[in-house]
Amino acid sequence: MCYLCALLKRTYAPSLMNTLTPFSSPLYVMSKPAGSLCNLACDYCYYLEKSLLYRNGVHESHKSHEHFEPHKPLLMSDATLEAFIRQYIEAQTQPQVLFTWHGGEPLMRPLTFYKKVLELQRRYAGGRQIDNCLQTNGTLLTDEWCTFFSENNWLIGLSIDGPQEFHDEYRRARGGQPSFHKVMRGIELLKKHGVEWNAMGVVNDFNADYPLDVYHFYKDIGCHYIQFTPIVERLLPHSDGRRLASIADGQDAPLADFSVTPEQYAHFACTIFDEWVRHDVGDVFVQLFDATLACWVGQAPGVCSMAETCGHAAVMEHNGDLYSCDHFVFPEYRLGNIHNDSITAMMYSPRQHAFGAAKRDSLPGQCRQCEWKFACNGGCPKDRFCMTADGEPGLNYLCEGYRTFFRHVAPYMDFMKEELEHQRPPANVMEWIKEPHKS
Ligand code: SF4
Ligand code: SF4
Repeated sequence: MCYLCALLKRTYAPSLMNTLTPFSSPLYVMSKPAGSLCNLACDYCYYLEKSLLYRNGVHESHKSHEHFEPHKPLLMSDATLEAFIRQYIEAQTQPQVLFTWHGGEPLMRPLTFYKKVLELQRRYAGGRQIDNCLQTNGTLLTDEWCTFFSENNWLIGLSIDGPQEFHDEYRRARGGQPSFHKVMRGIELLKKHGVEWNAMGVVNDFNADYPLDVYHFYKDIGCHYIQFTPIVERLLPHSDGRRLASIADGQDAPLADFSVTPEQYAHFACTIFDEWVRHDVGDVFVQLFDATLACWVGQAPGVCSMAETCGHAAVMEHNGDLYSCDHFVFPEYRLGNIHNDSITAMMYSPRQHAFGAAKRDSLPGQCRQCEWKFACNGGCPKDRFCMTADGEPGLNYLCEGYRTFFRHVAPYMDFMKEELEHQRPPANVMEWIKEPHKS
């Protein structure tokens, strides 16, 4: 085990380490027990409109399916749940299995659904260690939910975009009602019951200009594990009613105005990094910074967008349809259905292999020659809709932001790498930085 892994394992409980870096698993499928169903309708949500793929209760190409349940169009049936749990455990090549319950809003299913999950996991575990995490908007949390999560050691990922004015800008119910206070009540419940949780903040055109307000807010609410996701979406009306463009739609679709610009993202990430590297290394864990350090020392980053290839992290819709990735739930990326093909067969299929390898193989020359390629790897293919300086397609929209960030953090990453190589804690950077010539 390398020193970084040892350090991370000392820092995080082993089960928390598994759940915090799910993309480092060789085979990972997050599932949608309530499809895209959600009690909120955040402006930038990429998943709400997936219900249009299942307008008649089942995927258009799949109408004869025996598990088609027209009266429960977006909810996972017992048969699908059992098939998923059995196949997913069987497909693992490691002794640990991580289940991620995602949405939409997974708490749209009742507690009895998740009790059944535990029962089935126990039935099919075969001696493996099972971990669960659930990504929620937090507004439906109750004492009952939190008792369940605490008793069963579930990790909760909670979406919150910063202080109220930033959070409520985009995260609202269909009728426009804000959600901040309900989310905060959910956080208090998680804390009251001692549930492990981390925050997922979407970096958008508004909060990106206030990095320290956002960062200090997370610290003030007692959050020590933070994941920032820059939002980049393009709009292109489809005949079935969907409004978001996929990479297959070409380069012409206009950006959605909630998208963060590369300059904003660089400013956001660099400003928070400067604060973190002076005060919080080893106490606050920002996924972007941990993943960058992992790349610096030659380890897998645990964040798919920074990895050389992808394709081992798929998503399963409520009816068992498997798609190449959560951000590629489009008809052209549907791999099949678990009632017809096994998860193993679909995940190791030539199609999925090609999907994952394309992340590396389709890089434009500018990325292949880039000094930051070892850490950036061109970013997520979903966002590669720009032209390089010499007119080659396939450059990531956030490239300029990535370059600025990596250039900015490089001296500190070099120092932390050196510390790790000498078996010293990277948190020493906070002392090193106080030396006059380093600030
Ligand atoms: S396509 Fe993007 S989001 Fe999906 S696994 Fe690859 S890098 Fe991650
Ligand atoms: S920083 Fe830009 S050029 Fe370099 S690898 Fe990333 S996307 Fe490509």
